[in-house]
Amino acid sequence: MLLFCFRQDLRLHDQPALCLATDMARERGAALLPVVVRAPDGEQTPWGFARVGLHRRRFLADTLEDLRPQLTGRGSGLLEAKGDPVTVLLALAAATGADTLVVEAIDAPEEQAAVDALRAGGLTVHTVWQSNLLHPDDLPWAPEAVPEVFTAFRQGVERAAVPVRPTLPAPDELPPWPLHVPRPAPAVEMGKGLRPDPRSAFPYAEPHCRGGETAALAHLRRYLARGLPHHYKATRNGLMGLDYSSKWSPWLATGALSPRTAIEAMRAFEAEQGASESSYWLWFELLWRDHFRFMHRRFGRALFRARGLSDRPEHRAVRHDAAAFERWCTGRTGQALVDAGMRELAATGYLSNRMRQVVASHLVHELACDWRAGAAWFESQLVDFDVYSNQGNWAYIAGRGTDPRGGRRFDVEHQARTHDPDGAYRRLWAGA
Ligand SMILES: Cc1cc2nc3c(=O)[nH]c(=O)nc-3n(C[C@H](O)[C@H](O)[C@H](O)COP(=O)(O)OP(=O)(O)OC[C@H]3O[C@@H](n4cnc5c(N)ncnc54)[C@H](O)[C@@H]3O)c2cc1C
Repeated sequence: MLLFCFRQDLRLHDQPALCLATDMARERGAALLPVVVRAPDGEQTPWGFARVGLHRRRFLADTLEDLRPQLTGRGSGLLEAKGDPVTVLLALAAATGADTLVVEAIDAPEEQAAVDALRAGGLTVHTVWQSNLLHPDDLPWAPEAVPEVFTAFRQGVERAAVPVRPTLPAPDELPPWPLHVPRPAPAVEMGKGLRPDPRSAFPYAEPHCRGGETAALAHLRRYLARGLPHHYKATRNGLMGLDYSSKWSPWLATGALSPRTAIEAMRAFEAEQGASESSYWLWFELLWRDHFRFMHRRFGRALFRARGLSDRPEHRAVRHDAAAFERWCTGRTGQALVDAGMRELAATGYLSNRMRQVVASHLVHELACDWRAGAAWFESQLVDFDVYSNQGNWAYIAGRGTDPRGGRRFDVEHQARTHDPDGAYRRLWAGA
């Protein structure tokens, strides 16, 4: 019998890892047990707050609610557990007699350590790298030579005309659920009682923004049908409302949407309605997402050190002001734009790219706090938390990543004048 463990790939369309598990099970005439292991409810970060906050829990719960019937409808099901993935999966393998596990590869330290521990525990583990737009084997560089500077990466990709591989259809049928494993009742999830905030730029409690593949694909269709890619470049630095940016990230981060599916749909849109500089910009941004993934493959744990990739002596020691950090998290720094952003994040689990840059820069460069604490707070709060994009962007802004200029310091007053000239955004979140 085989186990398939979902990670950040909670979908059936364009799912190479699930296809591999399916093929292997069929070849062996074996059953396949799909599993998902979630963080335990009380898990804390080293910084003293919940690792997975209520917004993320709720979005993930909705994602699983969507996935469950899709698996059942294809002759399978979903076993859901909470706890340490290694402990849970080894216990499950022992209880069911499974000797093989298929999972997507995640090149981040904790996820890699989990795979090592599962192998050490006796399981044969097959990992499949699949969360990128571009396949690593199609790049014109070896993994250790992928350019550190984004522009060089993008230009190299475009010069070599690196293809986006075609997407895989969702399977019509899955290998059978193992007869000796009882079908579990769905888990009761925390966060179900959260009331949607009407000010949210990504109202995930509403059906059109709900977690899961069904809403993801519907959102993608709607976004294109409304012609929004033609306006994306002009509006992408907006702060309020659903339409200023694509809002693909929560579904991409949970894996409910495959980036290749998004680009395939974009290419069809461009073939029908014409390409524009603006529609190109969505590709450009998805390349940023890919670049951070390839940087994790190249640099691994180094991106998680206090000094990140920096070799500047002053970056070896990181200062941290716990009281200032607390004020930042709760939106009480006294800097109106930063406070508005931090309140929006806490109230909704989402924040625009522009505001992420502003609040991250403020924490690192003005409040002299440890950038990794900021990254951990985002991990706890963001419904679109993605280890690669989060760690990569934080390190970039803190000057510990791949920024050729050695970090980004945003002038908050200038940002407010440019992006919130009439103060509407600050007023929206002032009383929160
Ligand atoms: C400090 C900081 C932390 C971040 N943490 C995350 C995170 O945990 N998860 C996450 O998905 N994004 C993260 N981002 C990147 C970016 O802010 C979000 O991807 C974007 O705001 C999501 O909204 P959207 O889908 O409407 O983006 P759009 O502007 O519509 O962009 C389309 C897609 O391109 C990708 N993209 C856009 N900007 C970036 C970027 N700067 N880096 C990587 N990919 C990008 C995303 O997949 C996004 O969905 C972070 C940025 C900063 C500055």
